[in-house]
Amino acid sequence: ESRALASNIAASLDTIAAMLRDKAAELGKLDSYAGDGDHGVGMQRGSENAADAARKLVADGAGAGTTLAGAGEAWSATAGGTSGALWGVILNAAGHSMGDSSVPSRQDVVEIVQNVADTLQQVGAAAEGDKTMLDALLPFVRALSSESETSTLAAAWRSASTVAAHAAEKTAELSPKIGRARPLAEKSVGHADPGAVSLAYILAAIGEDLS
Ligand code: ADP
Ligand code: MG
Ligand code: MG
Repeated sequence: ESRALASNIAASLDTIAAMLRDKAAELGKLDSYAGDGDHGVGMQRGSENAADAARKLVADGAGAGTTLAGAGEAWSATAGGTSGALWGVILNAAGHSMGDSSVPSRQDVVEIVQNVADTLQQVGAAAEGDKTMLDALLPFVRALSSESETSTLAAAWRSASTVAAHAAEKTAELSPKIGRARPLAEKSVGHADPGAVSLAYILAAIGEDLS
Protein backbone atom coordinates (compact mmCIF):
# COMPACT_ATOMS: atom_id res chain seq x y z
CA GLU A 1 0.00 0.00 0.00
CA SER A 2 0.94 3.66 0.09
CA ARG A 3 3.32 3.31 3.06
CA ALA A 4 5.26 0.54 1.32
CA LEU A 5 5.48 2.75 -1.77
CA ALA A 6 6.67 5.64 0.44
CA SER A 7 9.49 3.43 1.63
CA ASN A 8 10.43 2.61 -2.01
CA ILE A 9 10.36 6.34 -2.81
CA ALA A 10 12.73 7.11 0.07
CA ALA A 11 15.08 4.36 -1.12
CA SER A 12 14.92 5.71 -4.67
CA LEU A 13 15.80 9.20 -3.40
CA ASP A 14 18.87 7.66 -1.73
CA THR A 15 19.84 6.10 -5.08
CA ILE A 16 19.35 9.48 -6.78
CA ALA A 17 21.42 11.32 -4.15
CA ALA A 18 24.28 8.81 -4.50
CA MET A 19 24.15 9.09 -8.29
CA LEU A 20 24.15 12.92 -8.17
CA ARG A 21 27.14 12.86 -5.81
CA ASP A 22 29.01 10.96 -8.55
CA LYS A 23 27.78 13.30 -11.29
CA ALA A 24 28.18 16.61 -9.41
CA ALA A 25 31.48 17.59 -11.03
CA GLU A 26 30.25 16.79 -14.53
CA LEU A 27 27.00 18.74 -14.00
CA GLY A 28 28.91 21.68 -12.53
CA LYS A 29 31.19 21.74 -15.56
CA LEU A 30 28.21 21.71 -17.95
CA ASP A 31 26.74 24.66 -16.02
CA SER A 32 30.02 26.57 -16.22
CA TYR A 33 30.05 27.18 -20.00
CA ALA A 34 27.22 29.72 -19.94
CA GLY A 35 25.82 29.44 -16.38
CA ASP A 36 27.34 29.92 -12.92
CA GLY A 37 28.67 26.39 -12.41
CA ASP A 38 26.59 25.52 -9.36
CA HIS A 39 24.23 22.94 -10.87
CA GLY A 40 26.15 19.91 -9.58
CA VAL A 41 26.50 21.07 -6.00
CA GLY A 42 22.91 22.30 -5.94
CA MET A 43 21.47 19.02 -7.21
CA GLN A 44 23.66 17.05 -4.81
CA ARG A 45 22.62 19.14 -1.80
CA GLY A 46 18.94 19.17 -2.73
CA SER A 47 18.71 15.43 -3.32
CA GLU A 48 20.55 14.56 -0.10
CA ASN A 49 18.21 16.72 1.95
CA ALA A 50 15.20 15.36 0.07
CA ALA A 51 16.29 11.79 0.83
CA ASP A 52 16.79 12.65 4.53
CA ALA A 53 13.35 14.26 4.72
CA ALA A 54 11.73 11.27 3.00
CA ARG A 55 13.39 8.81 5.40
CA LYS A 56 12.04 10.77 8.39
CA LEU A 57 8.54 10.96 6.92
CA VAL A 58 8.55 7.20 6.26
CA ALA A 59 9.66 6.57 9.86
CA ASP A 60 6.66 8.66 10.97
CA GLY A 61 4.31 6.51 8.87
CA ALA A 62 3.67 8.94 6.01
CA GLY A 63 2.09 7.77 2.76
CA ALA A 64 3.67 8.05 -0.68
CA GLY A 65 2.23 11.43 -1.69
CA THR A 66 3.12 13.11 1.61
CA THR A 67 6.63 11.65 1.41
CA LEU A 68 7.20 12.97 -2.12
CA ALA A 69 5.79 16.41 -1.29
CA GLY A 70 7.89 16.66 1.90
CA ALA A 71 11.00 15.62 -0.02
CA GLY A 72 10.25 18.38 -2.53
CA GLU A 73 9.98 20.99 0.22
CA ALA A 74 13.35 19.89 1.63
CA TRP A 75 14.92 19.95 -1.84
CA SER A 76 13.80 23.48 -2.71
CA ALA A 77 14.58 24.81 0.79
CA THR A 78 18.22 23.68 0.64
CA ALA A 79 19.43 23.31 -2.96
CA GLY A 80 19.38 26.95 -4.06
CA GLY A 81 19.22 28.04 -7.68
CA THR A 82 16.50 27.84 -10.26
CA SER A 83 16.76 24.08 -10.55
CA GLY A 84 16.40 23.69 -6.75
CA ALA A 85 13.13 25.60 -6.76
CA LEU A 86 11.90 23.66 -9.80
CA TRP A 87 12.84 20.24 -8.38
CA GLY A 88 10.79 21.21 -5.34
CA VAL A 89 7.91 21.93 -7.69
CA ILE A 90 8.39 18.59 -9.49
CA LEU A 91 8.32 16.47 -6.31
CA ASN A 92 5.49 18.51 -4.78
CA ALA A 93 3.36 18.18 -7.89
CA ALA A 94 4.10 14.45 -8.07
CA GLY A 95 3.20 14.02 -4.39
CA HIS A 96 -0.07 15.95 -4.60
CA SER A 97 -1.01 14.16 -7.78
CA MET A 98 -0.22 10.75 -6.25
CA GLY A 99 -1.85 11.24 -2.85
CA ASP A 100 -1.71 8.78 0.06
CA SER A 101 -4.84 6.73 -0.46
CA SER A 102 -3.76 4.11 -2.96
CA VAL A 103 -0.83 2.87 -5.01
CA PRO A 104 -1.02 4.39 -8.51
CA SER A 105 -1.82 2.16 -11.46
CA ARG A 106 0.27 2.33 -14.59
CA GLN A 107 -2.24 4.78 -16.14
CA ASP A 108 -2.11 6.87 -12.93
CA VAL A 109 1.68 7.09 -13.28
CA VAL A 110 1.29 8.45 -16.82
CA GLU A 111 -1.20 11.05 -15.54
CA ILE A 112 1.10 11.99 -12.65
CA VAL A 113 4.07 12.66 -14.94
CA GLN A 114 1.80 14.66 -17.26
CA ASN A 115 0.61 16.75 -14.29
CA VAL A 116 4.21 17.30 -13.22
CA ALA A 117 5.16 18.49 -16.72
CA ASP A 118 2.14 20.84 -16.87
CA THR A 119 2.92 22.32 -13.45
CA LEU A 120 6.60 22.77 -14.28
CA GLN A 121 5.67 24.65 -17.45
CA GLN A 122 3.21 26.87 -15.57
CA VAL A 123 5.67 27.70 -12.78
CA GLY A 124 8.84 28.02 -14.86
CA ALA A 125 7.15 29.64 -17.87
CA ALA A 126 9.64 28.00 -20.26
CA ALA A 127 8.69 26.41 -23.57
CA GLU A 128 10.08 23.36 -25.29
CA GLY A 129 13.20 24.39 -27.21
CA ASP A 130 14.26 27.04 -24.65
CA LYS A 131 17.10 24.73 -23.58
CA THR A 132 15.92 23.69 -20.13
CA MET A 133 15.06 20.48 -18.30
CA LEU A 134 11.73 20.58 -20.16
CA ASP A 135 13.58 19.53 -23.31
CA ALA A 136 14.25 16.16 -21.64
CA LEU A 137 11.01 15.93 -19.63
CA LEU A 138 8.50 16.53 -22.42
CA PRO A 139 9.96 13.86 -24.76
CA PHE A 140 9.98 11.50 -21.75
CA VAL A 141 6.30 12.15 -21.01
CA ARG A 142 5.33 11.66 -24.64
CA ALA A 143 7.34 8.42 -24.88
CA LEU A 144 5.91 7.04 -21.63
CA SER A 145 2.34 7.88 -22.71
CA SER A 146 2.75 6.15 -26.04
CA GLU A 147 4.50 3.00 -24.75
CA SER A 148 2.55 -0.13 -25.42
CA GLU A 149 0.28 -1.10 -22.53
CA THR A 150 1.51 -4.66 -22.84
CA SER A 151 4.98 -3.80 -21.50
CA THR A 152 5.45 -3.41 -17.76
CA LEU A 153 5.68 0.06 -16.20
CA ALA A 154 9.36 -0.59 -15.46
CA ALA A 155 10.09 -1.48 -19.10
CA ALA A 156 8.08 1.48 -20.39
CA TRP A 157 9.83 3.85 -17.95
CA ARG A 158 13.30 2.59 -18.95
CA SER A 159 12.52 2.94 -22.63
CA ALA A 160 11.18 6.49 -22.11
CA SER A 161 14.29 7.33 -20.04
CA THR A 162 16.46 6.41 -23.01
CA VAL A 163 14.43 8.88 -25.09
CA ALA A 164 15.02 11.53 -22.39
CA ALA A 165 18.78 10.84 -22.39
CA HIS A 166 18.98 11.32 -26.16
CA ALA A 167 16.84 14.46 -25.93
CA ALA A 168 19.11 15.86 -23.19
CA GLU A 169 22.18 15.28 -25.40
CA LYS A 170 20.42 16.98 -28.31
CA THR A 171 20.00 20.18 -26.25
CA ALA A 172 23.67 20.85 -27.09
CA GLU A 173 22.42 22.18 -30.43
CA LEU A 174 20.06 24.66 -28.78
CA SER A 175 20.64 28.23 -27.66
CA PRO A 176 19.19 29.08 -24.21
CA LYS A 177 16.13 31.36 -24.28
CA ILE A 178 15.54 31.57 -20.51
CA GLY A 179 17.46 31.30 -17.25
CA ARG A 180 20.96 32.21 -16.14
CA ALA A 181 22.62 30.82 -19.28
CA ARG A 182 20.76 33.21 -21.59
CA PRO A 183 23.13 36.21 -21.39
CA LEU A 184 26.03 33.98 -22.52
CA ALA A 185 23.81 31.97 -24.87
CA GLU A 186 26.40 31.54 -27.64
CA LYS A 187 28.86 29.91 -25.18
CA SER A 188 26.23 27.32 -24.38
CA VAL A 189 25.87 26.07 -27.95
CA GLY A 190 27.76 22.79 -28.35
CA HIS A 191 27.16 21.81 -24.69
CA ALA A 192 24.08 20.07 -23.35
CA ASP A 193 21.80 21.85 -20.88
CA PRO A 194 22.83 20.83 -17.33
CA GLY A 195 19.25 20.67 -16.06
CA ALA A 196 18.14 18.45 -18.95
CA VAL A 197 21.11 16.13 -18.39
CA SER A 198 20.50 15.81 -14.63
CA LEU A 199 16.80 15.19 -15.20
CA ALA A 200 17.60 12.38 -17.65
CA TYR A 201 20.02 10.85 -15.11
CA ILE A 202 17.33 10.96 -12.43
CA LEU A 203 14.72 9.35 -14.71
CA ALA A 204 17.22 6.56 -15.48
CA ALA A 205 17.95 6.04 -11.77
CA ILE A 206 14.22 5.75 -11.03
CA GLY A 207 13.87 3.25 -13.88
CA GLU A 208 16.60 1.06 -12.42
CA ASP A 209 14.78 1.02 -9.07
CA LEU A 210 11.41 0.06 -10.58
CA SER A 211 10.67 -3.64 -10.65
P1 ADP B 1 20.80 28.56 -11.60
O1 ADP B 1 20.65 28.73 -13.09
O2 ADP B 1 19.87 29.41 -10.81
O3 ADP B 1 22.23 28.65 -11.16
P2 ADP B 1 21.00 25.67 -11.70
O4 ADP B 1 22.33 25.91 -12.31
O5 ADP B 1 20.95 24.71 -10.58
O6 ADP B 1 20.33 27.04 -11.27
O7 ADP B 1 20.01 25.10 -12.81
C1 ADP B 1 20.07 25.52 -14.14
C2 ADP B 1 19.06 24.70 -14.93
O8 ADP B 1 17.74 25.05 -14.56
C3 ADP B 1 19.13 24.92 -16.41
O9 ADP B 1 20.12 24.10 -17.01
C4 ADP B 1 17.73 24.57 -16.89
O10 ADP B 1 17.63 23.18 -17.21
C5 ADP B 1 16.88 24.81 -15.65
N1 ADP B 1 16.00 25.96 -15.82
C6 ADP B 1 16.32 27.27 -15.72
N2 ADP B 1 15.22 28.03 -15.90
C7 ADP B 1 14.19 27.19 -16.13
C8 ADP B 1 12.78 27.35 -16.38
N3 ADP B 1 12.22 28.56 -16.42
N4 ADP B 1 12.03 26.23 -16.56
C9 ADP B 1 12.60 25.01 -16.52
N5 ADP B 1 13.90 24.78 -16.26
C10 ADP B 1 14.68 25.86 -16.08
MG1 MG C 1 23.69 27.39 -12.14
MG1 MG D 1 23.05 29.55 -9.43
